[in-house]
Amino acid sequence: MENRNEIRAICEALGCAYREDVPMRDYTTFRIGGAAPFMLFPENAAQIARAVRALRGKIPLVTLGRGSNMLVADGALHFAALHLGKNFSRIAVEGETMICEAGATMAEACRTALAHGLTGLEFSYGIPGSVGGGAYMNAGAYGGEYRDVVLWCEHVDEEGNPGRFSGEALDYRYRHSAYSGKGYVITRVAFGLKKGDPAAIRAQMDELMERRRSRQPLEFPSAGSTFKRPEGAYAAALIEQCGLKGTRVGDAMVSEKHSGFVINVGNATCADVLALIEQVRRTVREQTGYELEREVELFR
Ligand SMILES: Cc1cc2nc3c(=O)[nH]c(=O)nc-3n(C[C@H](O)[C@H](O)[C@H](O)COP(=O)(O)OP(=O)(O)OC[C@H]3O[C@@H](n4cnc5c(N)ncnc54)[C@H](O)[C@@H]3O)c2cc1C
Repeated sequence: MENRNEIRAICEALGCAYREDVPMRDYTTFRIGGAAPFMLFPENAAQIARAVRALRGKIPLVTLGRGSNMLVADGALHFAALHLGKNFSRIAVEGETMICEAGATMAEACRTALAHGLTGLEFSYGIPGSVGGGAYMNAGAYGGEYRDVVLWCEHVDEEGNPGRFSGEALDYRYRHSAYSGKGYVITRVAFGLKKGDPAAIRAQMDELMERRRSRQPLEFPSAGSTFKRPEGAYAAALIEQCGLKGTRVGDAMVSEKHSGFVINVGNATCADVLALIEQVRRTVREQTGYELEREVELFR
């Protein structure tokens, strides 16, 4: 990296913790990925805004939540990761509104809602992402989606300006939001929930977690469903129908337990996963006519 010294000087001046040459495999649920030359650990929105402004045009910034929908390239990477994690995960509840900093985990958000007897987020219990990551991609499961409960999101835009989207402006669709493909950093998310019976909320969370445990290969690293649901079909069913369960490239394998998941059964590389994804897409296209689109996002 030619401008490493310049970027280091910028990071030093930001007043936010950072590290150099951080293996992304340690920050992704796939356990795959080379080293990010810089990783920043902001604690507040002002630090994020300063980082975005100062690094603009010098190095691409990638916002990293829990890394549970990411496939990161092997070898040298060409971005700085802005990691919203524990330092950025405060949660406040006012009446039926719960406001989470973007680095809070979805599990923490669900447990806080439960502690306040608030219902609405149960569907997301067990999704191993951050609230920011969920708001970014309209995470959903078991008939619920973030769009059902998100009131507004605050963000820092690509130029470092703060802003807020609510209602229609969030442009929520299946695994899509107004933030998709934009370099905005979501900083806070407000959920509109309803008073409910804590025992019923708990029971629903436990039941959905049990369903995940029994149907998903949680014992292996993965990034969840590899493909989006194509119009009129289910990716997992198409993959199974094509006899692709257990298909392997290197240590990347189509799960035997849930064919919608590509899992890392040892030391899979990003190249292994991409080759397997291509093989699956080609076979499904040839045998069924369906075009599968990758849900997991690729970062180089
Ligand atoms: C076992 C398993 C089960 C899963 N089950 C489900 C499921 O049922 N439903 C579902 O929808 N998903 C599921 N997922 C996928 C994943 O958990 C979700 O997509 C989650 O929303 C990703 O959140 P994250 O914090 O990990 O995002 P990351 O993987 O860190 O990032 C994903 C994308 O979001 C962006 N992003 C993250 N945080 C922010 C932010 N604060 N501001 C702006 N952009 C941001 C990143 O830049 C990147 O583009 C599963 C994954 C696994 C491993």
